Amino acid sequence: MRRIENIEVFPVLLPVIETFQFASGSAGAAGGKAPHVFVKVTDNEGEVGWGEGRPVPQWSYETLETVETTIRDHLAPAILGLPVADRWGLHRRMQATIGRGPSTGQPIAKAALDLAVHDLCARAAGMSLRTFLGGGERASVELSFTLSGHDAEAVGEEVAAAWEAGFRHFNFKAALASGADAEIGSAVREAAGPEAFVWADANQGYGLHQAREAAPRLAAAGVDVLEQPLPADRMHLMRQLRKSVRMPLAVDESSVGPADFFAHAAEGLVDYLVVKVTRSGGVWPTLAQISVAEAAGLPLLVSGLTDGLLTKLAVCQVAVAFGCMGPAALNGSQFTDESALFPSKAEVESGGTVHLPDTPGIGVRPDEEALRDHLAHEGGR
Ligand SMILES: [Mg+2]
Repeated sequence: MRRIENIEVFPVLLPVIETFQFASGSAGAAGGKAPHVFVKVTDNEGEVGWGEGRPVPQWSYETLETVETTIRDHLAPAILGLPVADRWGLHRRMQATIGRGPSTGQPIAKAALDLAVHDLCARAAGMSLRTFLGGGERASVELSFTLSGHDAEAVGEEVAAAWEAGFRHFNFKAALASGADAEIGSAVREAAGPEAFVWADANQGYGLHQAREAAPRLAAAGVDVLEQPLPADRMHLMRQLRKSVRMPLAVDESSVGPADFFAHAAEGLVDYLVVKVTRSGGVWPTLAQISVAEAAGLPLLVSGLTDGLLTKLAVCQVAVAFGCMGPAALNGSQFTDESALFPSKAEVESGGTVHLPDTPGIGVRPDEEALRDHLAHEGGR
């Protein structure tokens, strides 16, 4: 039986090419560096799987340092020797090592290992990850372009440029200081046309009264869904908002583990499941969330944490396995330069669409030499 034999951790910093602000903070400023933690899991027959965690400390509580040390010093020792196919056991052991708070503890660190184990399992089985998960032949996912402008004129120009590049769906950040959310929504809808899926994400930035005021204005502007309007730990406010607005709602930061999403779905507080594999601790717990969404009759939206190409492909593999062809706000390559790690990226992503290869596993792996060149510190690995 194949067993996990070795785990290496690569904490790297990638160049940020565009500043990305949202209501709770920033995923990086142009000219700065973005933290990504890659892991390489090797089994006793020499097969390898790769995973990635992208900590965004102003979005959640994990940092480059915590993801690296949590994996290296706690999670990796706990899963050595485990059969590679035992994903249930993987998460039992990780959960026993780093327990829960209100929800899953250190999900971004756990997601990196979960992705690597799924890559390894699918490769060992000779299947693409989507096939390994039980999916069919679908192989492409439409991306949603993340608008970074903060006024109507700027986002109108951004939509036009992204449309030229092949993007057909758009998401923007609401509840920022400009207060121009409805105007921005109107500009996006006007520039993107009636077929586009347009999505506003407040990243916990509204108070209840602001959300009540903003939601009908966003809906009238042609915005399809309002994501995470309220602080993540204030579910009672979501109940109040739900009673007073008709606009479709979704949660993201509030929906870490399957139980979090179940609580929202069971009370009828949300209209979508936002699939975010890194936030949720990996593929395995995401499958449980998708099962809840299926049972609740709720469709899927897909987003990320400005993750790299490895996570983007893994998430698309998960989405298509369940018939979801997008829109997917997997926008890492808008904001970070990962070209050194993934020089053949154009083969799998072009024109606003991810084209999944049939190769076994997630379908892409980082250049290991380039990872070593981008290590955050000499003690990496
Ligand atoms: Mg979000």
